[in-house]
Amino acid sequence: MDDLVVLRPEGLFCPAGGFFIDPWRAVDRAVLTHAHADHARSGHSHVLCSARGLPVFQARLGSQTSFQALRFGAPLRVGDVWLSLHPAGHVLGASQIRIEKDGRVWVVSGDYRVAADPSCDAFVPVAADVFITETTFGLPIYRWQAQQRVVDEILLWWQQEAQRGHACLIYTYALGKAQRLIMAIDDRAGIRSGPGPVYVHAAVARINAAYRAAGVGVPADQTPPTRLAAGDLVLAPQSVQGSHWLGRQQVPVSQANVSGWMTVRGARRRQPGVRGFVLSDHADWPGLLWAIDHSQASRVILTHGQTAFMARWLSARGLQADTFQTEFDAQAADV
Ligand SMILES: [Zn+2]
Ligand SMILES: [Zn+2]
Repeated sequence: MDDLVVLRPEGLFCPAGGFFIDPWRAVDRAVLTHAHADHARSGHSHVLCSARGLPVFQARLGSQTSFQALRFGAPLRVGDVWLSLHPAGHVLGASQIRIEKDGRVWVVSGDYRVAADPSCDAFVPVAADVFITETTFGLPIYRWQAQQRVVDEILLWWQQEAQRGHACLIYTYALGKAQRLIMAIDDRAGIRSGPGPVYVHAAVARINAAYRAAGVGVPADQTPPTRLAAGDLVLAPQSVQGSHWLGRQQVPVSQANVSGWMTVRGARRRQPGVRGFVLSDHADWPGLLWAIDHSQASRVILTHGQTAFMARWLSARGLQADTFQTEFDAQAADV
């Protein structure tokens, strides 16, 4: 029986359906799992995405792109296959793609996160014969703390820095992490009861607006003033580091990074003076194993990240484990 998804130079391809999944080159028909830059490149003629994520895709790819939006769970005939989209956690509108032909089911995970939060639809396991899973954090060292605990650490840091007369700047992906953080801070402490106002970079404000268009209420929209004051908190993409605006601040600005990569000492050392908080929109090692187990798949194909270790782990447990060499890059997801 032919494989339902194969690797082509343009990206993952479903021959029976005639479409690519998150291709890294411009194609005629693309099904996109989510709107991060390494998955949703521009230039495709036709894009199929989740209805839930449509405003986010439009904000990222522009309205010139021809979109077809599909509700989670609704089956669609595409070529010789049935296709449906299922929540992947990760960011708003992120989908797993289920492909069925002649009773065989393949599921492509896209990027996913199994711990739920109110900023996006929770990951739902989908039964499959073959599960194509990302393995961004596919090593046993990656084990996330509960979000609430990390957010409490961030709130404490903000409070302490404010008390010594500093403003605070958090580097975060503009899509997903920023909205999740704002909502979590608001839920934990109330966005207006911190030591100062919360500001967001224009790139974050744009995505906040798309979230609201999709029905997810993200508070905080003010872009930062020219001069920050002690106690201010700013959420901005990494590109702000080294900017003219940052260099000209008159109060000290304490900086922090919020990412799964902060687990690794090397990643923390690359940015001396920048505090690291570990919070990721990807599954950690136990999350990946949980998702693979719940897919019930006997064959697993690994994409981006730590594929070699995971492949050995799964093979030792009797699963067929293959790898696709993809061009997804979680660390560059916000460029
Ligand atoms: Zn992503
Ligand atoms: Zn990715």
